[in-house]
Amino acid sequence: MRKKIVAGNWKMNTTVAEGVELAKAVVAKSAEVPAGVGLIVATPFTHLVSVAEVVKGSRVELSAQNCADKEKGAYTGEVSVNMIKSTGATWTILGHSERRQYYGETDEKLVEKTRLALAAGLKVILCVGENLEEREAGKHFEVVKNQTEAVLFNFTAEDMKNIVVAYEPVWAIGTGKTATADQAEEIHACIRKVLAGKFGEQVAEDTTILYGGSCKPSNAKELFAQPDIDGGLIGGAALKADDFIGIALSF
Ligand code: PEP
Repeated sequence: MRKKIVAGNWKMNTTVAEGVELAKAVVAKSAEVPAGVGLIVATPFTHLVSVAEVVKGSRVELSAQNCADKEKGAYTGEVSVNMIKSTGATWTILGHSERRQYYGETDEKLVEKTRLALAAGLKVILCVGENLEEREAGKHFEVVKNQTEAVLFNFTAEDMKNIVVAYEPVWAIGTGKTATADQAEEIHACIRKVLAGKFGEQVAEDTTILYGGSCKPSNAKELFAQPDIDGGLIGGAALKADDFIGIALSF
């Protein structure tokens, strides 16, 4: 049975002190959430060590939001998978649309980053999703299929045990426009079919696929009720512990 997960992507928000307070509030409220639901907070790199202390011994897992596409060495300003692992984090988000859009993240780089992350023992939340132009041109299935294949088809069924996919339509991120439950479900089902074609039905059934894009306590229930939506990757609403936990209570 695949795992239900709610992951908070804090993006470039909060100071370290604010992040520690937010993490403490999430840990404090986490007992309200049914045991089967995984909770992850993805903090800025600068916060990982401090937040790791807060979540230690709790059910809340810690994630980075990116990693370098090189193992180590003369890559000024980059943060390697081993550095992330050494903070206590156990996950990294990869391929978020903001990184694809603003920082030139290509599928090729994502293959390398995913390879390094898995080799270091980090689990990966791989984001895919079409932009508004692609949606309006009716290319959303094709775009998401291509992004999924371009990265994940370089990995094995065994690797897929440590990979979660997040479908995040770019037009719904931070815009207040949520994909309808039907729009999200049809893409999630498509991703699962793509995975089944490559890795077999069982791997596809066991892979957690999250929805992300203006998900909040008021719309999470309808989204999470869909058969192929296994939780959420949450941006804005993850910055308030009550909202984040409220979403996690929506299964
Ligand atoms: C995100 O960026 O991963 C995201 C889903 O953002 P928001 O919830 O703010 O739309």
